[in-house]
Amino acid sequence: MEYDYAIIGSGFGGSVSALRLAEKGYSVVVLEQGNRVTPEDMEEGDSDIRRLNWMPFLGMTGYFSQDFFRHVTLVRGVGVGGGSIVYAAVLLMPKDDFYKDPAWSALGIDWKKVLAPHYDTAVKMLGVTENPSMDIQDEFLEKTAEAMNAQNSFGPTPNGIYFGTPEVMKPDPFFNGAGPHRAGCHLCGRCLTGCSHGSKNSLDKNYLYLAERLGAAILPFRKVSGIIPMPGGGYCLKTGHPVKRFRKYPDITAKKVIVAAGVVGTLELLFSCREFQRLFPRFRPCSAKLPAQTARPSWGFYHQTRIST
Ligand SMILES: Cc1cc2nc3c(=O)[nH]c(=O)nc-3n(C[C@H](O)[C@H](O)[C@H](O)COP(=O)(O)OP(=O)(O)OC[C@H]3O[C@@H](n4cnc5c(N)ncnc54)[C@H](O)[C@@H]3O)c2cc1C
Repeated sequence: MEYDYAIIGSGFGGSVSALRLAEKGYSVVVLEQGNRVTPEDMEEGDSDIRRLNWMPFLGMTGYFSQDFFRHVTLVRGVGVGGGSIVYAAVLLMPKDDFYKDPAWSALGIDWKKVLAPHYDTAVKMLGVTENPSMDIQDEFLEKTAEAMNAQNSFGPTPNGIYFGTPEVMKPDPFFNGAGPHRAGCHLCGRCLTGCSHGSKNSLDKNYLYLAERLGAAILPFRKVSGIIPMPGGGYCLKTGHPVKRFRKYPDITAKKVIVAAGVVGTLELLFSCREFQRLFPRFRPCSAKLPAQTARPSWGFYHQTRIST
C-alpha cells in the first residue's frame, strides 16, 4: 500500500482529517478534483465568469460550482480548500435552542458539553475573530433589528478572517509562526469569489498548509471515479483529470479511505461505485427504482450522475 490513508476531497472534512492523521504519523494523500487556486485566479474569477465557474464538461475549471437539481440549486467551492475558497467565513456558535431541538436532545447526550472542546479547537484553527468594522449595511441591520424589537440579535459577526492591516504582510498570527505570512483584510466583501488578498483563513492557510508541512501529499486535478476494495484489505482508487480525459494517472492504493467530497461529491461517487460500477460487493445495490435521471451508467469522471431530488 502506498499510503495509510487516502482522503477524497480537500474541503473542511478532508483538511481536518489530513492534518490530524499526519500529526499521528500516518502517510496521507489528499485527492482533489479542482486545482490549487491562486490570488491571480481569484482576481480573474471576480470579473470573468468563465474563470470563476467549475463546469469541467465545458472545459471551465474555475472554483465555483452550481448544481441545478429539479427543486434545489446548490453552490459549492471546488479546488484545494473546497468550500473554504468561496465561503463567507461566518463562523457562528449554536445557541441553546439548537441543542434543545429533539433531533439532538432525544439522543440523551449533553451535546453542548460534548462539542464545546471541539468548537474551541475550530475557533483556534480557523482563527475566528469578531469583525471589527461597522459599516452602513450594519447600521441598516441594527435599525431593522430595533424596528423588529430584536435588538439582542444584533452584534458583530465572528469571522474566520485575519483583519490585521490591509496590504501589510505579517508573519503568521495564528500558529506561533508555523503558518503562512498573512496580509490584513480590505473589507472589500469579495470573500464569495475568493479572497485574492489572502486575508480569509481558508483551509490552504491552516489545516492543509500544516498537513503539507507534515508530509501529507495534496494532489490537485485528481477526480476519484472508483473505490475498489482489495481482496487482502485496503483500497485501490481510480483517478483521472476532470477535463483532460485521456490523461492517465496510476491507481492509488491505501489501507483506508476517507470520503470527504462534500454532500454532492460523496453521494455521486458512492452511488456510482455501488449502483453502476458494482464495486462494493458487501453492499447490495439499491432495490428502489432509481429516477430516470440517475438510472444511466456513470463513466466516472466525465459523466455527472444526477440524483433527482
Ligand atoms: C458561497 C458559499 C458561502 C458559504 N458561507 C459559509 C459561511 O459563512 N459559514 C459556514 O460555516 N459555511 C459556509 N458555507 C458552507 C461551507 O462552505 C460548507 O458547509 C463546507 O465547505 C462543507 O465542507 P465539506 O468538507 O463537507 O465539503 P467541501 O468543502 O465542499 O469539500 C469537498 C471537496 O471535495 C472535492 N471533490 C468532490 N468530489 C470529488 C471527487 N470525486 N474526487 C476528488 N475530489 C472531489 C470538491 O472539489 C471539494 O473541493 C458556504 C458555502 C458556499 C458555497
